[in-house]
Amino acid sequence: MIAPLEALIESLRALPGIGRKSAERIAFYLLNAPQEEVTKLSNTIAKIKTEVHRCRRCYNFATDELCEICSNPKRNQETICVVGQPWEILKIERTGEYHGLYHVLGGLISPMDEVGAKDLTIDALLNRIKTEGTKEVILALEPKLEGELTAMHLVSLIKPLGVKISQIAQGIPVGRDLEFADEVTLGRALRGRIEL
Ligand SMILES: [Zn+2]
Repeated sequence: MIAPLEALIESLRALPGIGRKSAERIAFYLLNAPQEEVTKLSNTIAKIKTEVHRCRRCYNFATDELCEICSNPKRNQETICVVGQPWEILKIERTGEYHGLYHVLGGLISPMDEVGAKDLTIDALLNRIKTEGTKEVILALEPKLEGELTAMHLVSLIKPLGVKISQIAQGIPVGRDLEFADEVTLGRALRGRIEL
């Protein structure tokens, strides 16, 4: 195969969820697509790194200083839902069951990967709880060891602050596994959250 085409297929294959066949299909599609369409796509991809950054309040993806959720006055300002990564927010938003704010930790405590509490945005979260009049913190962390460790650590820090802390119903896969949990299931998990 000619080098530019092979390079494109290799780049596409590096993306999550794209195997050799899909990469080839996309590459051949682009090769046959109008120049404007290909240029538009490549510009959109290039811009994502310069135009998208982290919300200074919750660490969600944002194009301004504050993300769309933080800058929406209609959101319930007294509830913070804590997630590991920004894309988990999209999944919870899709349920239409949650109207509060979020906080993105930027990962989970993982001794295996040498990720400790200090590597996460926990200090920023505690600061928010102390200064924003937070009444409830909901943990929506992945139900795996790392999620449990992170939840335990957060509970020990947040409980003394006197706010309600709850966890979305266990057994419901969150995080990346959430792809497989439909909106209804996740919505139910949010409603059936357990106070810690
Ligand atoms: Zn935000």
